Amino acid sequence: MTKTTSTTNCADNNCPIHHGLKTHGRLFRGTVIEAKAGKTATVLWQRKAFLPKYDRYETRRTTMHTHNPECISAKKGDIVALTECKPISKTKHFVITEKIGSDYAYLAREELLIQAEAPKPKTEEETK
Ligand SMILES: [Zn+2]
Repeated sequence: MTKTTSTTNCADNNCPIHHGLKTHGRLFRGTVIEAKAGKTATVLWQRKAFLPKYDRYETRRTTMHTHNPECISAKKGDIVALTECKPISKTKHFVITEKIGSDYAYLAREELLIQAEAPKPKTEEETK
């Protein structure tokens, strides 16, 4: 596990690296899609499920509220590793343990979607 930022200034009691929050159970990797609310991040990942009737796989998506420790402070578009831990709040029972990298494809898609929704500037032919 790599230590990301300053190790001494971590005031987060629910930090698995500096305050020994115990982790157990399942591990996942996903993309942060929302990190506005303080120490909470919403993480999304995709998985394949086999459909016997069609003899094919379908893609299913899972979104999860996770605890985002101060020292990691993952941002939107980061690829993170998360581990199951004790319930931290009503909807949080996973904690981000590591920032792996950036999901450039996700960020680029978001940007294109925002552009597509914005009103298009009028072309010369329309203004005539
Ligand atoms: Zn920490």
